[in-house]
Amino acid sequence: MIPRPFEYHAPKTVPEAIALLQKYGDTAKLLAGGHSLLPMMKIRFAEPEHLVDLGKVAELRGIREQGKELRIGAMTTENDLIWSTLVQKKCPLLVEAARLIGDPQVRYKGTLGGDISHGDPGNDHPAIMLALGASFVLAGSNGERVVAADDFFVDTYVTALEPDEVLTEIRIPVLAKNTGWCYAKLKRKIGDFATAAAAVLLTMKGDTVKEVAIALTNAGATALKAREAEDSLRGKKFDDAAIAEAARLAMSICDPAEDQRGDVEYKTAMTGEMTRRALRTARERAK
Ligand SMILES: Cc1cc2nc3c(=O)[nH]c(=O)nc-3n(C[C@H](O)[C@H](O)[C@H](O)COP(=O)(O)OP(=O)(O)OC[C@H]3O[C@@H](n4cnc5c(N)ncnc54)[C@H](O)[C@@H]3O)c2cc1C
Repeated sequence: MIPRPFEYHAPKTVPEAIALLQKYGDTAKLLAGGHSLLPMMKIRFAEPEHLVDLGKVAELRGIREQGKELRIGAMTTENDLIWSTLVQKKCPLLVEAARLIGDPQVRYKGTLGGDISHGDPGNDHPAIMLALGASFVLAGSNGERVVAADDFFVDTYVTALEPDEVLTEIRIPVLAKNTGWCYAKLKRKIGDFATAAAAVLLTMKGDTVKEVAIALTNAGATALKAREAEDSLRGKKFDDAAIAEAARLAMSICDPAEDQRGDVEYKTAMTGEMTRRALRTARERAK
């Protein structure tokens, strides 16, 4: 339960952080809120020799609206999201998800950038980012690049981040008017990760589905976009049969890891149920 000794670095700017990552290579790790990294260091699953703390990098904080996007600094905490009137108004799905993460301690310290960079399919933000069509600004020694959420999550704990890159900003398209949203999450108790969860965005034209996004948490090696389920709904009447078919298609791509939260069959069935619930709630909100 005691991490190996490490050297602590506290850069004040992104270029300083990148320079430290370049200098120390594989032996360095970025530290954000620490609520995933420190538990891993305690069990020696991660053994960095250098910790590069982003806590003093002021440019990585803050939430603003630019054009049709919300631009959120990677070090923005879950509580910053929950308390932001801008996020409440422009992207309530993100607030709904953040409120369901961990416990008060985790929400005070855990950051949006850390939750995404960790690459854990059990984390909530990866699926939320897929549903929202977000993109990420990655800064490294070769400059900046913008990567779509669709291309970012590669495998469990593996993302598109290069070893010398810092996720600096999360860009989220502002929701179109009258878009319904829901994050339905099943967890065993307060503070637990999802047994299964589904994120849905939905816009309607009368009784017909105009646009829909569905993404799944803890249902595979990464967060999953349920594309066939989305296709099955677009342009169709939104009724019980359409919901059942979308849930069936969402379940068909599930390959969850078996753990203390349940076996594959149970988790897959619960993903279907979360998809049905999220679709129904999003429909109610899509006025
Ligand atoms: C009891 C408990 C319950 C939890 N429940 C949930 C839950 O229900 N849902 C959920 O989603 N999460 C949950 N978590 C995880 C929590 O949300 C973490 O805070 C989050 O996964 C990581 O964010 P962090 O800021 O703490 O990052 P850290 O732990 O500091 O870092 C995580 C990883 O990301 C890398 N990293 C961090 N920031 C950057 C960056 N800007 N650029 C590049 N790499 C970066 C680090 O090097 C590290 O590898 C829980 C954690 C605990 C302890």
